[in-house]
Amino acid sequence: EASLQKDVPVTESKDGKGFMGHSMLAPFTAGWQTTELHPLVIEKSEGCYVYDTTGKKYLDSLAGLWCTALGGNEPRLVAAATKQLNTLPFYHSFWNRTTKPTLDLAKELLETFTATKMAKVFFANSGSEANDTQVKLVWYYNNALGRPNKKKFIARAKSYHGSTLISASLSGLSPLHQKFDLPAPFVVHTDCPHYWRYHLPGETEEEFSTRLVNNLEDLILKEGPETIAAFIAEPVMGAGGVILPPATYFEKVQAVVRKYDILFIADEVICAFGRLGTMFGCDKYNIKPDLVSVAKALSSAYMPIGAILVSPEVADVIHSQSNKLGNFSHGFTYSGHPVACAVALEALKIYKERNIVEQIRSISPRFQDGLKAFSDSPIIGEIRGTGLVLGTEFTDDKSPNNSFPPEWGIGSYFGAQCEKQGMLVRVSGDNIMMSPPFIISPDEVDELISIYGNALKATEERVQELKSQ
Ligand code: PMP
Repeated sequence: EASLQKDVPVTESKDGKGFMGHSMLAPFTAGWQTTELHPLVIEKSEGCYVYDTTGKKYLDSLAGLWCTALGGNEPRLVAAATKQLNTLPFYHSFWNRTTKPTLDLAKELLETFTATKMAKVFFANSGSEANDTQVKLVWYYNNALGRPNKKKFIARAKSYHGSTLISASLSGLSPLHQKFDLPAPFVVHTDCPHYWRYHLPGETEEEFSTRLVNNLEDLILKEGPETIAAFIAEPVMGAGGVILPPATYFEKVQAVVRKYDILFIADEVICAFGRLGTMFGCDKYNIKPDLVSVAKALSSAYMPIGAILVSPEVADVIHSQSNKLGNFSHGFTYSGHPVACAVALEALKIYKERNIVEQIRSISPRFQDGLKAFSDSPIIGEIRGTGLVLGTEFTDDKSPNNSFPPEWGIGSYFGAQCEKQGMLVRVSGDNIMMSPPFIISPDEVDELISIYGNALKATEERVQELKSQ
Protein backbone atom coordinates (compact mmCIF):
# COMPACT_ATOMS: atom_id res chain seq x y z
CA GLU A 1 0.00 0.00 0.00
CA ALA A 2 1.31 3.40 -0.93
CA SER A 3 1.94 5.88 1.80
CA LEU A 4 3.18 9.41 1.93
CA GLN A 5 6.81 10.25 2.42
CA LYS A 6 7.80 10.40 6.07
CA ASP A 7 8.51 14.10 6.08
CA VAL A 8 5.26 15.14 4.36
CA PRO A 9 2.70 16.47 6.87
CA VAL A 10 -0.58 14.59 6.51
CA THR A 11 -4.19 15.38 7.32
CA GLU A 12 -6.48 12.71 8.84
CA SER A 13 -9.97 12.43 7.32
CA LYS A 14 -12.79 13.61 9.56
CA ASP A 15 -14.57 10.27 9.58
CA GLY A 16 -11.43 8.60 10.91
CA LYS A 17 -11.29 6.31 7.87
CA GLY A 18 -7.78 6.71 6.65
CA PHE A 19 -5.82 9.84 5.90
CA MET A 20 -6.48 12.56 3.34
CA GLY A 21 -2.88 12.73 2.31
CA HIS A 22 -0.84 15.89 2.57
CA SER A 23 -2.34 19.21 3.57
CA MET A 24 -2.49 20.76 0.13
CA LEU A 25 -5.45 20.70 -2.23
CA ALA A 26 -3.19 20.19 -5.20
CA PRO A 27 -3.66 21.89 -8.59
CA PHE A 28 -4.48 19.66 -11.56
CA THR A 29 -4.34 16.60 -9.30
CA ALA A 30 -7.09 14.07 -8.60
CA GLY A 31 -8.25 13.84 -4.98
CA TRP A 32 -7.39 10.15 -4.89
CA GLN A 33 -3.84 10.86 -6.00
CA THR A 34 -3.22 12.99 -2.93
CA THR A 35 -4.50 10.21 -0.67
CA GLU A 36 -3.12 7.07 -2.22
CA LEU A 37 0.08 8.01 -3.99
CA HIS A 38 3.33 9.60 -2.98
CA PRO A 39 3.55 13.18 -4.06
CA LEU A 40 6.88 13.60 -5.77
CA VAL A 41 8.49 16.25 -3.59
CA ILE A 42 11.17 18.18 -5.45
CA GLU A 43 13.79 19.72 -3.23
CA LYS A 44 16.62 21.07 -5.32
CA SER A 45 17.51 21.95 -8.90
CA GLU A 46 20.73 22.22 -10.82
CA GLY A 47 20.83 23.16 -14.49
CA CYS A 48 18.44 20.86 -16.35
CA TYR A 49 18.06 18.51 -13.38
CA VAL A 50 15.83 18.42 -10.31
CA TYR A 51 16.24 16.26 -7.21
CA ASP A 52 13.55 14.80 -4.99
CA THR A 53 13.70 14.50 -1.21
CA THR A 54 15.30 11.06 -1.45
CA GLY A 55 18.14 12.55 -3.51
CA LYS A 56 16.99 10.96 -6.78
CA LYS A 57 17.99 13.02 -9.81
CA TYR A 58 15.69 13.67 -12.78
CA LEU A 59 16.32 15.30 -16.13
CA ASP A 60 13.52 17.88 -16.21
CA SER A 61 12.38 17.54 -19.81
CA LEU A 62 9.47 19.97 -19.31
CA ALA A 63 11.54 22.74 -17.63
CA GLY A 64 9.15 22.76 -14.68
CA LEU A 65 5.97 23.69 -16.53
CA TRP A 66 7.57 24.89 -19.79
CA CYS A 67 9.18 27.72 -17.86
CA THR A 68 12.60 27.29 -16.18
CA ALA A 69 14.31 28.44 -19.35
CA LEU A 70 17.69 29.06 -17.76
CA GLY A 71 17.58 25.90 -15.68
CA GLY A 72 17.68 25.45 -11.96
CA ASN A 73 20.52 27.52 -10.57
CA GLU A 74 21.32 30.56 -12.66
CA PRO A 75 23.31 32.72 -10.21
CA ARG A 76 22.65 35.98 -12.05
CA LEU A 77 18.91 35.63 -11.50
CA VAL A 78 19.45 34.91 -7.82
CA ALA A 79 21.77 37.93 -7.56
CA ALA A 80 19.23 40.18 -9.33
CA ALA A 81 16.50 39.07 -6.92
CA THR A 82 18.73 39.48 -3.87
CA LYS A 83 19.88 42.93 -4.91
CA GLN A 84 16.31 44.11 -5.45
CA LEU A 85 15.11 42.51 -2.20
CA ASN A 86 17.83 44.41 -0.36
CA THR A 87 16.95 47.72 -2.05
CA LEU A 88 13.16 47.72 -2.40
CA PRO A 89 11.38 44.43 -1.88
CA PHE A 90 8.02 45.94 -2.81
CA TYR A 91 6.23 48.93 -4.05
CA HIS A 92 3.06 48.92 -6.15
CA SER A 93 2.25 50.45 -9.53
CA PHE A 94 -1.24 51.85 -8.85
CA TRP A 95 -2.23 55.54 -9.22
CA ASN A 96 0.80 56.60 -11.21
CA ARG A 97 3.30 55.27 -8.71
CA THR A 98 5.75 52.54 -9.65
CA THR A 99 9.32 51.32 -9.36
CA LYS A 100 12.37 51.57 -11.59
CA PRO A 101 12.73 47.87 -12.50
CA THR A 102 9.04 47.88 -13.46
CA LEU A 103 9.52 50.73 -15.93
CA ASP A 104 12.81 49.31 -17.19
CA LEU A 105 11.23 45.94 -17.87
CA ALA A 106 8.28 47.48 -19.73
CA LYS A 107 10.71 49.34 -21.99
CA GLU A 108 12.90 46.27 -22.49
CA LEU A 109 9.92 44.07 -23.37
CA LEU A 110 8.75 46.53 -26.03
CA GLU A 111 12.26 46.56 -27.52
CA THR A 112 12.50 42.76 -27.44
CA PHE A 113 9.24 42.21 -29.31
CA THR A 114 9.92 43.18 -32.92
CA ALA A 115 7.28 41.24 -34.94
CA THR A 116 5.28 44.46 -34.99
CA LYS A 117 5.41 47.67 -33.02
CA MET A 118 3.97 47.54 -29.53
CA ALA A 119 3.35 50.61 -27.37
CA LYS A 120 2.53 49.62 -23.81
CA VAL A 121 2.99 46.83 -21.28
CA PHE A 122 0.65 45.82 -18.47
CA PHE A 123 2.03 43.55 -15.75
CA ALA A 124 0.31 40.60 -14.11
CA ASN A 125 1.60 37.67 -12.05
CA SER A 126 0.87 34.76 -14.35
CA GLY A 127 -0.24 33.74 -17.81
CA SER A 128 -3.82 33.32 -16.61
CA GLU A 129 -3.92 36.84 -15.21
CA ALA A 130 -2.37 38.16 -18.40
CA ASN A 131 -5.14 36.54 -20.47
CA ASP A 132 -7.87 37.72 -18.09
CA THR A 133 -6.42 41.18 -18.52
CA GLN A 134 -6.60 40.79 -22.30
CA VAL A 135 -10.34 40.19 -22.10
CA LYS A 136 -10.98 43.12 -19.78
CA LEU A 137 -8.74 45.40 -21.82
CA VAL A 138 -10.51 44.47 -25.06
CA TRP A 139 -13.92 45.07 -23.47
CA TYR A 140 -12.72 48.39 -22.12
CA TYR A 141 -11.37 49.30 -25.55
CA ASN A 142 -14.64 48.46 -27.30
CA ASN A 143 -16.63 50.35 -24.67
CA ALA A 144 -14.35 53.34 -25.27
CA LEU A 145 -15.09 53.06 -28.98
CA GLY A 146 -18.84 52.93 -28.32
CA ARG A 147 -19.16 49.31 -29.48
CA PRO A 148 -20.77 47.72 -26.42
CA ASN A 149 -21.90 44.64 -28.38
CA LYS A 150 -18.44 43.74 -29.69
CA LYS A 151 -17.47 41.53 -26.75
CA LYS A 152 -17.15 37.89 -27.80
CA PHE A 153 -13.89 36.00 -28.02
CA ILE A 154 -12.99 33.25 -30.44
CA ALA A 155 -10.50 30.69 -29.16
CA ARG A 156 -9.60 27.24 -30.48
CA ALA A 157 -10.40 23.70 -29.42
CA LYS A 158 -7.44 22.22 -27.48
CA SER A 159 -5.96 25.62 -26.66
CA TYR A 160 -4.69 26.37 -23.16
CA HIS A 161 -4.89 29.95 -21.93
CA GLY A 162 -4.98 29.46 -18.16
CA SER A 163 -7.27 28.33 -15.38
CA THR A 164 -8.96 31.42 -13.93
CA LEU A 165 -12.65 31.86 -14.82
CA ILE A 166 -11.92 33.85 -17.96
CA SER A 167 -8.71 32.17 -19.10
CA ALA A 168 -10.19 28.69 -18.51
CA SER A 169 -13.19 29.78 -20.59
CA LEU A 170 -10.86 30.78 -23.41
CA SER A 171 -9.08 27.43 -23.15
CA GLY A 172 -10.45 24.70 -25.38
CA LEU A 173 -9.87 21.71 -23.11
CA SER A 174 -12.97 20.08 -21.65
CA PRO A 175 -11.47 19.14 -18.24
CA LEU A 176 -11.12 22.89 -17.60
CA HIS A 177 -14.84 23.39 -18.32
CA GLN A 178 -16.63 20.31 -17.04
CA LYS A 179 -17.70 20.52 -13.38
CA PHE A 180 -16.83 24.23 -13.35
CA ASP A 181 -19.86 25.44 -15.35
CA LEU A 182 -17.59 26.89 -18.02
CA PRO A 183 -16.92 28.22 -20.59
CA ALA A 184 -18.47 31.62 -19.98
CA PRO A 185 -21.03 32.52 -22.66
CA PHE A 186 -18.90 35.18 -24.34
CA VAL A 187 -16.40 32.60 -25.63
CA VAL A 188 -16.87 30.56 -28.79
CA HIS A 189 -14.44 27.92 -29.95
CA THR A 190 -13.29 27.15 -33.46
CA ASP A 191 -11.33 24.22 -34.93
CA CYS A 192 -8.05 22.93 -33.58
CA PRO A 193 -5.54 23.22 -36.46
CA HIS A 194 -4.04 19.77 -36.02
CA TYR A 195 -3.37 18.57 -39.55
CA TRP A 196 -2.41 14.96 -38.74
CA ARG A 197 -5.52 14.39 -36.66
CA TYR A 198 -8.15 16.32 -38.58
CA HIS A 199 -7.24 16.56 -42.26
CA LEU A 200 -9.51 14.93 -44.82
CA PRO A 201 -8.15 12.19 -47.10
CA GLY A 202 -5.99 13.76 -49.78
CA GLU A 203 -6.19 17.25 -48.26
CA THR A 204 -2.90 19.22 -48.28
CA GLU A 205 -1.84 21.38 -45.33
CA GLU A 206 -2.73 24.50 -47.31
CA GLU A 207 -6.16 23.12 -48.18
CA PHE A 208 -6.69 22.11 -44.57
CA SER A 209 -5.81 25.67 -43.46
CA THR A 210 -8.22 27.11 -46.03
CA ARG A 211 -11.04 24.85 -44.82
CA LEU A 212 -10.44 25.75 -41.16
CA VAL A 213 -10.27 29.46 -41.90
CA ASN A 214 -13.48 29.20 -43.96
CA ASN A 215 -15.07 27.59 -40.89
CA LEU A 216 -13.73 30.46 -38.80
CA GLU A 217 -15.28 32.98 -41.17
CA ASP A 218 -18.60 31.09 -41.13
CA LEU A 219 -18.53 31.20 -37.33
CA ILE A 220 -17.86 34.95 -37.34
CA LEU A 221 -20.75 35.51 -39.76
CA LYS A 222 -23.07 33.25 -37.78
CA GLU A 223 -22.32 35.04 -34.50
CA GLY A 224 -22.29 38.44 -36.21
CA PRO A 225 -18.97 40.21 -36.80
CA GLU A 226 -20.25 43.17 -34.78
CA THR A 227 -20.30 40.88 -31.71
CA ILE A 228 -16.79 39.43 -32.05
CA ALA A 229 -14.07 41.39 -30.27
CA ALA A 230 -10.97 39.24 -30.52
CA PHE A 231 -9.38 35.99 -31.62
CA ILE A 232 -6.79 34.40 -29.32
CA ALA A 233 -4.21 31.78 -30.30
CA GLU A 234 -0.98 30.22 -29.14
CA PRO A 235 1.50 30.27 -32.07
CA VAL A 236 2.29 26.63 -31.22
CA MET A 237 -0.36 25.03 -29.01
CA GLY A 238 1.35 23.73 -25.89
CA ALA A 239 -0.72 21.92 -23.29
CA GLY A 240 -3.15 20.72 -25.98
CA GLY A 241 -0.36 18.43 -27.20
CA VAL A 242 2.30 20.57 -28.97
CA ILE A 243 0.37 21.31 -32.14
CA LEU A 244 2.13 23.26 -34.87
CA PRO A 245 0.12 25.46 -37.21
CA PRO A 246 -0.30 23.96 -40.70
CA ALA A 247 1.20 25.83 -43.67
CA THR A 248 -0.48 29.20 -44.42
CA TYR A 249 -2.79 28.92 -41.40
CA PHE A 250 -1.88 32.13 -39.57
CA GLU A 251 -1.61 34.10 -42.80
CA LYS A 252 -5.22 33.14 -43.61
CA VAL A 253 -6.52 33.61 -40.06
CA GLN A 254 -5.05 37.10 -39.90
CA ALA A 255 -6.68 38.10 -43.17
CA VAL A 256 -10.10 37.01 -41.92
CA VAL A 257 -9.93 38.58 -38.47
CA ARG A 258 -8.69 41.83 -39.96
CA LYS A 259 -11.57 41.84 -42.44
CA TYR A 260 -14.07 41.90 -39.57
CA ASP A 261 -12.17 44.31 -37.31
CA ILE A 262 -11.39 41.58 -34.80
CA LEU A 263 -8.28 41.95 -32.64
CA PHE A 264 -5.62 39.22 -32.78
CA ILE A 265 -4.19 38.16 -29.41
CA ALA A 266 -1.04 36.04 -29.50
CA ASP A 267 -0.73 33.93 -26.36
CA GLU A 268 3.07 33.60 -26.26
CA VAL A 269 3.18 32.28 -22.69
CA ILE A 270 5.04 29.11 -23.84
CA CYS A 271 6.49 30.27 -27.17
CA ALA A 272 8.17 33.55 -26.19
CA PHE A 273 11.87 34.20 -25.66
CA GLY A 274 13.32 31.47 -27.87
CA ARG A 275 11.37 28.26 -27.31
CA LEU A 276 10.59 27.83 -31.04
CA GLY A 277 14.04 28.92 -32.24
CA THR A 278 12.81 32.49 -32.75
CA MET A 279 12.50 35.18 -30.10
CA PHE A 280 8.69 34.97 -30.30
CA GLY A 281 6.22 32.63 -31.95
CA CYS A 282 4.97 35.69 -33.85
CA ASP A 283 8.40 35.98 -35.53
CA LYS A 284 8.28 32.37 -36.67
CA TYR A 285 4.80 32.51 -38.17
CA ASN A 286 4.77 36.13 -39.30
CA ILE A 287 1.98 37.07 -36.93
CA LYS A 288 1.32 40.78 -36.42
CA PRO A 289 -0.83 40.75 -33.30
CA ASP A 290 -2.68 43.58 -31.61
CA LEU A 291 -2.03 42.13 -28.17
CA VAL A 292 0.48 39.63 -26.79
CA SER A 293 0.57 37.63 -23.53
CA VAL A 294 3.85 36.50 -21.98
CA ALA A 295 4.83 34.80 -18.70
CA LYS A 296 6.91 31.68 -17.84
CA ALA A 297 10.35 32.23 -19.48
CA LEU A 298 9.93 35.99 -18.94
CA SER A 299 11.57 35.44 -15.54
CA SER A 300 12.78 31.91 -16.30
CA ALA A 301 10.14 31.11 -13.63
CA TYR A 302 12.34 32.36 -10.80
CA MET A 303 9.60 34.81 -9.85
CA PRO A 304 5.92 34.75 -10.82
CA ILE A 305 5.28 37.36 -13.51
CA GLY A 306 3.18 37.76 -16.64
CA ALA A 307 2.61 40.68 -18.96
CA ILE A 308 0.60 41.83 -21.91
CA LEU A 309 1.91 43.95 -24.75
CA VAL A 310 -0.53 46.43 -26.27
CA SER A 311 -0.43 47.81 -29.82
CA PRO A 312 -0.20 51.56 -30.45
CA GLU A 313 -3.74 51.53 -31.93
CA VAL A 314 -5.33 49.99 -28.84
CA ALA A 315 -3.18 52.07 -26.49
CA ASP A 316 -4.12 55.25 -28.40
CA VAL A 317 -7.83 54.64 -27.98
CA ILE A 318 -7.40 54.11 -24.26
CA HIS A 319 -5.17 57.15 -23.98
CA SER A 320 -7.38 59.46 -26.02
CA GLN A 321 -10.54 58.36 -24.22
CA SER A 322 -9.06 58.57 -20.75
CA ASN A 323 -10.99 61.74 -19.84
CA LYS A 324 -14.20 59.87 -20.55
CA LEU A 325 -13.06 56.54 -19.13
CA GLY A 326 -11.34 57.66 -15.95
CA ASN A 327 -8.96 55.18 -14.32
CA PHE A 328 -8.21 51.87 -15.94
CA SER A 329 -9.57 50.22 -12.81
CA HIS A 330 -7.85 46.91 -13.20
CA GLY A 331 -4.65 45.62 -11.65
CA PHE A 332 -3.12 43.44 -9.01
CA THR A 333 -1.25 44.34 -5.84
CA TYR A 334 1.76 42.66 -7.40
CA SER A 335 1.40 44.07 -10.95
CA GLY A 336 4.97 45.02 -11.81
CA HIS A 337 6.42 43.62 -8.58
CA PRO A 338 9.95 45.08 -8.43
CA VAL A 339 11.69 41.80 -7.53
CA ALA A 340 9.92 39.89 -10.30
CA CYS A 341 10.72 42.71 -12.74
CA ALA A 342 14.39 42.83 -11.70
CA VAL A 343 14.67 39.08 -12.26
CA ALA A 344 12.87 39.27 -15.62
CA LEU A 345 15.13 42.13 -16.74
CA GLU A 346 18.16 40.00 -15.93
CA ALA A 347 16.66 37.00 -17.74
CA LEU A 348 16.09 39.11 -20.88
CA LYS A 349 19.64 40.42 -20.60
CA ILE A 350 20.98 36.86 -20.39
CA TYR A 351 18.90 35.74 -23.40
CA LYS A 352 20.44 38.56 -25.41
CA GLU A 353 24.02 38.24 -24.16
CA ARG A 354 24.11 34.49 -24.68
CA ASN A 355 22.25 34.76 -27.98
CA ILE A 356 19.75 32.24 -26.71
CA VAL A 357 17.83 32.08 -29.99
CA GLU A 358 20.97 30.97 -31.86
CA GLN A 359 21.80 28.53 -29.08
CA ILE A 360 18.34 26.95 -29.35
CA ARG A 361 18.60 26.80 -33.12
CA SER A 362 21.88 24.97 -32.93
CA ILE A 363 20.76 22.39 -30.34
CA SER A 364 17.28 21.95 -31.80
CA PRO A 365 18.13 19.51 -34.66
CA ARG A 366 19.84 17.14 -32.21
CA PHE A 367 16.71 17.18 -30.02
CA GLN A 368 14.11 17.10 -32.81
CA ASP A 369 15.83 14.64 -35.16
CA GLY A 370 16.96 12.41 -32.30
CA LEU A 371 13.40 12.01 -31.03
CA LYS A 372 11.67 12.00 -34.42
CA ALA A 373 13.86 8.98 -35.28
CA PHE A 374 11.42 7.02 -33.07
CA SER A 375 8.49 7.95 -35.34
CA ASP A 376 8.44 4.45 -36.84
CA SER A 377 7.45 2.88 -33.54
CA PRO A 378 4.20 0.95 -34.03
CA ILE A 379 2.67 2.67 -30.99
CA ILE A 380 3.52 6.23 -32.05
CA GLY A 381 0.95 8.06 -34.16
CA GLU A 382 2.87 11.29 -34.49
CA ILE A 383 5.93 13.04 -33.11
CA ARG A 384 5.80 16.77 -33.73
CA GLY A 385 7.81 19.73 -32.61
CA THR A 386 10.07 22.65 -33.40
CA GLY A 387 12.88 24.41 -31.57
CA LEU A 388 12.92 22.98 -28.06
CA VAL A 389 9.36 21.76 -27.78
CA LEU A 390 8.08 18.36 -28.82
CA GLY A 391 4.98 16.25 -28.45
CA THR A 392 4.50 12.52 -28.90
CA GLU A 393 1.07 11.01 -29.45
CA PHE A 394 0.58 7.31 -28.88
CA THR A 395 -1.99 5.60 -31.10
CA ASP A 396 -2.52 2.11 -32.41
CA ASP A 397 -1.66 1.32 -36.04
CA LYS A 398 -0.21 4.84 -36.35
CA SER A 399 -3.70 6.12 -37.04
CA PRO A 400 -5.24 9.24 -35.44
CA ASN A 401 -8.50 7.31 -35.26
CA ASN A 402 -7.20 4.35 -33.26
CA SER A 403 -6.61 5.54 -29.74
CA PHE A 404 -5.54 2.97 -27.18
CA PRO A 405 -8.24 2.17 -24.61
CA PRO A 406 -7.89 4.89 -21.94
CA GLU A 407 -7.87 2.23 -19.20
CA TRP A 408 -4.60 0.90 -20.63
CA GLY A 409 -2.97 4.15 -19.49
CA ILE A 410 -0.31 4.03 -22.19
CA GLY A 411 0.81 7.64 -21.77
CA SER A 412 1.02 7.23 -17.99
CA TYR A 413 2.96 4.00 -18.39
CA PHE A 414 5.50 5.76 -20.60
CA GLY A 415 5.70 8.65 -18.11
CA ALA A 416 6.28 6.24 -15.22
CA GLN A 417 9.04 4.47 -17.18
CA CYS A 418 10.77 7.81 -17.77
CA GLU A 419 10.42 8.73 -14.11
CA LYS A 420 11.89 5.40 -13.02
CA GLN A 421 14.89 6.06 -15.21
CA GLY A 422 15.35 9.61 -14.01
CA MET A 423 13.40 11.88 -16.35
CA LEU A 424 10.24 13.91 -15.86
CA VAL A 425 7.89 14.38 -18.83
CA ARG A 426 4.43 15.88 -19.16
CA VAL A 427 1.74 13.25 -19.66
CA SER A 428 -1.74 14.17 -20.83
CA GLY A 429 -3.72 11.07 -21.79
CA ASP A 430 -1.66 9.45 -24.54
CA ASN A 431 0.17 12.68 -25.31
CA ILE A 432 3.69 13.21 -24.02
CA MET A 433 5.16 16.70 -24.00
CA MET A 434 8.70 17.93 -23.58
CA SER A 435 10.16 21.44 -23.52
CA PRO A 436 13.57 21.30 -21.86
CA PRO A 437 15.41 24.34 -20.50
CA PHE A 438 16.95 26.55 -23.22
CA ILE A 439 20.38 25.75 -21.77
CA ILE A 440 20.21 21.98 -22.40
CA SER A 441 23.60 20.64 -23.53
CA PRO A 442 24.28 18.10 -26.32
CA ASP A 443 25.07 15.42 -23.71
CA GLU A 444 21.84 16.13 -21.88
CA VAL A 445 19.88 15.92 -25.13
CA ASP A 446 21.50 12.53 -25.75
CA GLU A 447 20.56 11.39 -22.26
CA LEU A 448 16.98 12.59 -22.80
CA ILE A 449 16.78 10.65 -26.08
CA SER A 450 18.26 7.54 -24.53
CA ILE A 451 15.74 7.52 -21.64
CA TYR A 452 12.92 8.23 -24.09
CA GLY A 453 14.06 5.26 -26.20
CA ASN A 454 14.18 2.90 -23.23
CA ALA A 455 10.77 4.05 -21.99
CA LEU A 456 9.35 3.62 -25.49
CA LYS A 457 10.68 0.07 -25.75
CA ALA A 458 9.12 -0.82 -22.39
CA THR A 459 5.84 0.78 -23.49
CA GLU A 460 5.83 -1.14 -26.79
CA GLU A 461 6.24 -4.36 -24.79
CA ARG A 462 3.44 -3.31 -22.48
CA VAL A 463 1.12 -2.74 -25.46
CA GLN A 464 1.99 -6.21 -26.82
CA GLU A 465 1.24 -7.71 -23.42
CA LEU A 466 -2.10 -5.93 -23.14
CA LYS A 467 -3.07 -6.90 -26.67
CA SER A 468 -2.35 -10.55 -26.02
CA GLN A 469 -4.53 -10.66 -22.89
N1 PMP B 1 -1.22 30.46 -21.77
C1 PMP B 1 -0.49 29.41 -22.16
C2 PMP B 1 -0.20 29.22 -23.61
C3 PMP B 1 0.01 28.51 -21.21
O1 PMP B 1 0.72 27.45 -21.61
C4 PMP B 1 -0.25 28.73 -19.86
C5 PMP B 1 0.29 27.81 -18.76
N2 PMP B 1 0.68 26.56 -19.13
C6 PMP B 1 -1.04 29.83 -19.50
C7 PMP B 1 -1.48 30.69 -20.48
C8 PMP B 1 -1.39 30.10 -18.07
O2 PMP B 1 -0.29 30.52 -17.37
P1 PMP B 1 -0.25 30.41 -15.77
O3 PMP B 1 -0.25 28.97 -15.41
O4 PMP B 1 1.01 31.15 -15.43
O5 PMP B 1 -1.45 31.12 -15.26
